[in-house]
Amino acid sequence: MFKIIAIIVLAISTAGAGYFGWTQKKSSAAATEQIAELTQKVEESDKKVEASEEELAASKEMLPPLMTKAQELEAVKAAFSSGTVLKDLEAAYAKEKKGLSPERQLGLAGLRLLTNGTKDPATVEAFQKALEMTDWKSQQKVICAAQNALAAAGEKVKVMSECASEAPTAKGEMKVDTAPAKGDKKDAHGSGEKHAAHWEYEGAMGPENWGKEFPTCGKGRSQAPLNIKGPFEKVRFSVAPDYKQGQLKIVNNGHTIQVNVPVGSKIRIDGRAYDLLQFHFHRPSEEHLDGKPAAMVVHFVHKNLEGELAVLAVMLREGNENPGIKTLWTHAPPKEGPEVVPDGVMFNPANLLPREMDFFHYDGSLTTPPCTEKVKFFILKSQVNVSKEQVSEFPFKMNARPIQPPNGRPIYSN
Ligand SMILES: [Zn+2]
Repeated sequence: MFKIIAIIVLAISTAGAGYFGWTQKKSSAAATEQIAELTQKVEESDKKVEASEEELAASKEMLPPLMTKAQELEAVKAAFSSGTVLKDLEAAYAKEKKGLSPERQLGLAGLRLLTNGTKDPATVEAFQKALEMTDWKSQQKVICAAQNALAAAGEKVKVMSECASEAPTAKGEMKVDTAPAKGDKKDAHGSGEKHAAHWEYEGAMGPENWGKEFPTCGKGRSQAPLNIKGPFEKVRFSVAPDYKQGQLKIVNNGHTIQVNVPVGSKIRIDGRAYDLLQFHFHRPSEEHLDGKPAAMVVHFVHKNLEGELAVLAVMLREGNENPGIKTLWTHAPPKEGPEVVPDGVMFNPANLLPREMDFFHYDGSLTTPPCTEKVKFFILKSQVNVSKEQVSEFPFKMNARPIQPPNGRPIYSN
C-alpha cells in the first residue's frame, strides 16, 4: 500500500501532468477530476494507515521518506505556480545543442502544463505531443522522466532508486525497462548494460542457456509457460477487457511481431484495472493444453498502477482466415527494425478476442529474458481462428519458450 501512496504522492508532486497524460485525459475538467481522485486516494490510504497499527509498525522505514515527499509536494507546487522550475529547466535544456530525448521533452512539457495550467490549449497540446513521442510503457517511466527533469532543474527532488539509472545523463535513452516489453530487444540490450546480452529460441543462445545471462530464467521457481492440465482449483472472479480502437503501431523486434497499444485500453481482473501496453505473438503457442500447443498464441500484456503484470493469452487454432490478423500482417515488418506507424490505420485489439472470457490462470513469469516473475497469466478457454497461410506468413518460424516446471503451483479455472 505504501508503494501506492508513494507513487501517488510522487505522481502528484512531480509528474501530476504526466499522470494526466498517462490516463489520456484530454480536457482540463477531466484532469482536475483526476487530481481530485488521486488526492482522495491518498487520503483514503492515509486513513487506512491510521486504522492499521500493525501495518504502521511494519512500515516505519517507509513513512519518513514519504512524509518528506509530501512536504516536498508543497514546495514543488509553489515552485510550479511561480514558474521558476520551468524557467530553470528551460535554461538548463537550452544549453544542450543535441536536442532533447523524448523523455526530457515530456518532463519539460509536463512542467509547462503544471506551470501554465491546463486551460492553455497550446500547452496541453504540446504535452500530449511529447507524450506520444515518448515510448513510455509505465507510469513509473513518466514519473522518472519528471523526477529527473526536476532534478536537472536543480529542484530538491529525490529521484526514486528505480529512476536513478534513467537520469538525464543516460543519453536520453532509458535503461532496461521494467515494463514487460516481452521480446523487446531493449530489455536485453539496455543502453546501460555493459555488453549486449543476446538471446534466441535455438542454439547456444537458446532457452536452455538464458539462465547464464538472465539468472531468473534459470533459477526462477515460477516460470512460464506451463502445460495446462487438471485438476484445477476453482476461482470465482472474472476478467473483463475494455479495449479501444487506436492508431496501429507495430514492430518486428527480432523476437516477435509486437503491437504497441496507445493508452486507453484496459482490462479488469477481479475488479482491478490494468492497462493494456502491448500484444505480441508466439508460434506455436507457448502454453500447452493437455500437452499440446495451438498453432499460435497472442499475449496481451497489461500492467496495473502498482506495476503488477498480467498477461491475457488467446490461443489461435488453425481454421478460417482471421481478419484482424490480416490487417496486422499487412503492416508487420518482415525484418527486425523500428516501430512502424502506418498512416491512418486504426486497430482495435478486441478484434482478436473470442466471445467467451472463461480462463485458466496461474502465476508465472515473462516468457522471454529477463524472465521476471510475478506475472499473472490468464489463458482463455475459447480459441480464435487463424488460417494456415496466416500462420506461415508470421515471420518467426518458432518463437516459443519450452514448458517450464510447475513446482507445485496450482492452476486455476473460473
Ligand atoms: Zn509472450
